[in-house]
Amino acid sequence: MATEPMRLYDTAAREIVAFEPGPIVTMYTCGITPYDATHLGHATVYLTYDVLQRRLRDRGHETRCVRNITDVDDSILAKAKELDVHYLDLAAAEIARFHNDMDALEMLPAWSEPRATSAIADIRGFIGMVLDGGFAYVAEGGGVYFDVTKYDKFGSISGYDEEQMLALAAEHGGFPDDPKKRNPLDFILWQPSAEGEPEWESLWGPGRPGWHTECSALAMRELDTTIDLHGGGSDLIFPHHECEAAQSEAATGKPLVRHWMHQAMVRMDGEKMSKSLGNLVFVSELRKEHDTRAIRLGVVAHHYRHAWEWNEQIMPEADARLAAWVAAGRGDGALAQVRDALDNDLDTPAAVAAIDASVAAGAGVSEAAALLGVDTLRPVEVGEANSSAA
Ligand SMILES: [Zn+2]
Repeated sequence: MATEPMRLYDTAAREIVAFEPGPIVTMYTCGITPYDATHLGHATVYLTYDVLQRRLRDRGHETRCVRNITDVDDSILAKAKELDVHYLDLAAAEIARFHNDMDALEMLPAWSEPRATSAIADIRGFIGMVLDGGFAYVAEGGGVYFDVTKYDKFGSISGYDEEQMLALAAEHGGFPDDPKKRNPLDFILWQPSAEGEPEWESLWGPGRPGWHTECSALAMRELDTTIDLHGGGSDLIFPHHECEAAQSEAATGKPLVRHWMHQAMVRMDGEKMSKSLGNLVFVSELRKEHDTRAIRLGVVAHHYRHAWEWNEQIMPEADARLAAWVAAGRGDGALAQVRDALDNDLDTPAAVAAIDASVAAGAGVSEAAALLGVDTLRPVEVGEANSSAA
């Protein structure tokens, strides 16, 4: 095992700190809501934790990364209604497409990939723990809300002030104006289902889980009361992760997470890539024209902590880089530099630059490239569209 610890930026500490887990590293990343195809923003999030796991395994750890699937929430129910299909049929189709993209990108498989609908009993039990601790209340109509005034560390993960939190809650389905709440930042743990929505029995009346509750219940069920690292896109810091952390600590008396690590947003046309704006690049489209290893290289050429802009230069550059690395052949050129770069706050651009320099100097780089998840010992493929035409 390497002697110096890895160093990673911790969102809650707001600085780069030593990351020193035990032999088994427990990780949780918020997964997809399966109602639309995987875009490059998703792929970027999962690639970051994939490279992190590769380096942790290289350092001698076992990694257990849980990635949930939110197969019941507002967005999937709305899309299923629009398409006039059952929400679980929509979920099944989109999960299959997601796995197809993840496999093509040669992602390490999730240690487990539990679905929200598999966790209703766990979620009800978890909500019971929060209520028993006096951190939540049952409102008229059967909704269960977390009372933020009972938890004095609310805001400590994001570091946002009340005004910022209120604005983000309004933007992300937190409904600060909901008249059933005691305080505008209270968030829902269990919600009565609307007409036509799926519902499950509970002590508080029929309903479905709130958005944040699923991840807290699943992290605890699948991993532990306290996990080593929690990941996700930086747009999840508030409200999602703040609320997860608050309710979990309220339920168990122990912190949910030792280290918070967030992936910055990928932008296109100056805005965050998102379904609502429609400025998306789909992995399935890129796969038609490019070797999937080049898609990986296009992503890891950017540092996880800095937002970056998608542009037309990225893929041609990545195609050329992949061809050069493959041509360089077998060898351990740049291996030490790549290990150092990844240990230094997962500095993938520095790792890529070190491999480029080694290739330019005539060395083989297969071992260093493998740490970035790029197998350089297979010939370059030209993409599905081109190969099917051949
Ligand atoms: Zn989550």
